[in-house]
Amino acid sequence: MESLSDRHQGDLQGRLAAFTDHHPVAVAVVVDPRTAHLAGPQHTAWMLINLLARADGVIRSVHLVCPPEVPLAARVVPLAPREMPLEQALLQGAHAIGAVSVSKASAPAPDQTVLIVGSAHGAQGRGARFVTGYGWWGGVSSHPLPVPDTSRASPLPFGPYLAAALAAAEIFLTVRLPAYSGPAGAYGWDCWTQTMSGIPAPGAPARLAEVDLTGTALAGVGAVGSTWVHALWATPGLTGTVVLADADSQGISVTNLNRCTPFGRRHLGRPKADCAAQVCADTEILWRPHHTRFEELGITPALLVSAVDTNRARAQLQNRYPARMLSASTLDLRAEALRVGPPGTGACLRCYNPPEAVTGDDELRARTRAGGAPAVQALAAEAGVSETEVRRWLERGECGEVGTRLLQSLRRQAEPVQARFAVGFTSATAGTLLAAETIKTLLGEPMRKAAPQHNNVTFQFLRPTAHVNAASPLARDPQCPACAPTHPAIDTWRQRAANASTPGQR
Ligand SMILES: [Zn+2]
Repeated sequence: MESLSDRHQGDLQGRLAAFTDHHPVAVAVVVDPRTAHLAGPQHTAWMLINLLARADGVIRSVHLVCPPEVPLAARVVPLAPREMPLEQALLQGAHAIGAVSVSKASAPAPDQTVLIVGSAHGAQGRGARFVTGYGWWGGVSSHPLPVPDTSRASPLPFGPYLAAALAAAEIFLTVRLPAYSGPAGAYGWDCWTQTMSGIPAPGAPARLAEVDLTGTALAGVGAVGSTWVHALWATPGLTGTVVLADADSQGISVTNLNRCTPFGRRHLGRPKADCAAQVCADTEILWRPHHTRFEELGITPALLVSAVDTNRARAQLQNRYPARMLSASTLDLRAEALRVGPPGTGACLRCYNPPEAVTGDDELRARTRAGGAPAVQALAAEAGVSETEVRRWLERGECGEVGTRLLQSLRRQAEPVQARFAVGFTSATAGTLLAAETIKTLLGEPMRKAAPQHNNVTFQFLRPTAHVNAASPLARDPQCPACAPTHPAIDTWRQRAANASTPGQR
């Protein structure tokens, strides 16, 4: 979904590439003892540590200043035993990630960038940034921001995760872009209204009761999808059965650990859907993980949540024409979430996303032949077959299981590796926006009550207070064949969407 600031993003690639010679910073995360017992500050502290601990090369070390023996207020750290007190759980979670060193400290040192979490009124912090999350809202500021008092404490993780992403982005951009002068003042984002806001939106529910997710399916358990699972796991009041599908044959890789918020080093090589379901098992939600492409399941869920990362995969999901669809994606420093439809009016998953070209089988064979013995050797290793089998396949071009595996390996190699700038705070934001929109959809809430036709929300981190960070209506792409009025599935899709718009009906 290319829009608004693509040219700007293109420039950014070059600028970031030019600044590889940067100096990682040491960060102190201070959990204010006066609010450390509340779920909001706990979620904020964990997602902050989670993102910083994965930013190898940007963060030199993290120093946690946290009161001891504070019990966890909710499900907070999926990578730590649930009975641990907050301080230990945060350290254990960071240790499980296994990238940047995170240790406990009694106070910030002078050379450290200081982030204060869950600031109570009257907290002090010269030069520090306050990171505040409450309910659906999260913000960053140079002075403590007021949130509703403890009697109305919210256990929801959406705002806290947003606050953590905003703060992590400030540090990241300060390190990587010397010209960056982040917003010095206070700013924040509210997921209930999907709008810029310095305070939590009035009227947003502080807690949820018995929201049944049965009929929901997630396609793609990468950086965005795994954060969606993480956020729903951390949200009290959700029930039901949820399908998770991810086909990545490599399983969790070291690169994934940079951005997949519920995964740690011990999960390397594991299938993503299974792993997410296992790490986040202790919830009323029953996860049904599948190590396959969603479209191969042959089901049409009531609500399909897309977190896939190629246009080809998006087009295949659109092909199921479920009653309701949500999608989130990232591009460089931008996160975006879409509520698909209405059918034939609003954007579909295929709109503005032309599927990538597929390299032909014969061409892939010809390339391997041209590469000689080293190419044969490399392909055999990658596909897990013998060199003899590769040569036989090159000579006879036969199909069958070996041929399919070889072609899959070659396709992976042939797809242009997009030298995209992939950072954890962007995908964590996309996954959080997607989780918030999932719950709001099930509650029958529009993306933005003040403007119910708005179906698309965009947030870019380079200038977080810019007006392009907003919800807006995204009409269908006039060039899109999948939701054209002439498409044979459009009437069925309209009917399904109309039936689903009655609250409570699935
Ligand atoms: Zn379309």
